[in-house]
Amino acid sequence: MREQNIPVVGNGLVSHHVVERLVNADLPVRITVIGEEPRPAYDRVHLSDVFAAKGPT
Ligand SMILES: Cc1cc2nc3c(=O)[nH]c(=O)nc-3n(C[C@H](O)[C@H](O)[C@H](O)COP(=O)(O)OP(=O)(O)OC[C@H]3O[C@@H](n4cnc5c(N)ncnc54)[C@H](O)[C@@H]3O)c2cc1C
Repeated sequence: MREQNIPVVGNGLVSHHVVERLVNADLPVRITVIGEEPRPAYDRVHLSDVFAAKGPT
């Protein structure tokens, strides 16, 4: 099977999950992630908990 190119725009929770599934599926794909944030995907859903636990600085 010919390798497919899959561009993924955005590096958030959902795209991270999609890429994880594609990698685990072991398909002949080349994945390119284009994200505007300078850091890897992180769990935004729990961001409030992190800041609540940390308290004001
Ligand atoms: C502080 C905070 C607390 C939250 N708490 C909860 C919660 O308790 N429960 C809950 O269900 N949800 C919560 N959310 C919402 C949750 O974060 C989102 O529902 C979830 O992140 C959506 O995931 P996503 O991958 O679709 O989008 P996002 O996480 O927003 O990721 C999209 C990514 O795509 C990038 N992007 C967008 N357009 C482009 C472009 N044109 N080119 C390149 N990159 C691009 C963005 O920079 C971003 O990195 C919270 C959000 C925040 C900010």
